[in-house]
Amino acid sequence: MTTVQVVAHCLVDPLARLKGLRPVAFTPEGPVIQLLCPEAGGLGLDRWAVTKNQIDIPSYRRYCREIFGHHADLIEQFAKKGYEIEVVGVEGSPSCGVRSTTSGYTGGKIRHQDHDHVAGMGVFMEEVAKELDRRGVTFKLAETKLE
Ligand code: SF4
Repeated sequence: MTTVQVVAHCLVDPLARLKGLRPVAFTPEGPVIQLLCPEAGGLGLDRWAVTKNQIDIPSYRRYCREIFGHHADLIEQFAKKGYEIEVVGVEGSPSCGVRSTTSGYTGGKIRHQDHDHVAGMGVFMEEVAKELDRRGVTFKLAETKLE
């Protein structure tokens, strides 16, 4: 069966990643749908690092739903044609983590702050999964490990 991989944007466009982070190694295994990068689009290319608790707010979730909507329209059609759907996120991302995300920054003036890698999904992937569930699309989830 053909698998359509629905991948986090930076897996095929490392320019969107947070400055200073290395590109994630990813090799497509077949047809690929590249999602938009919610952090580059919503916070810009000069953004600071954030943790999930900072972006887990209604407006960011709404933005995530908005930028996923058109991709979801296409994914739903592929699923109805019988293609397998695999959503591929990025380990430890506050937006695109699938099995792991981050927590801990509290904002305020720029200073050193600790943060933790914790179990759970990022905000964007939570909205992606909810929307695919709502549409009755069966999908697998995978997470690409950081180098
Ligand atoms: S993990 Fe997601 S939010 Fe972070 S750079 Fe990649 S696509 Fe953007």
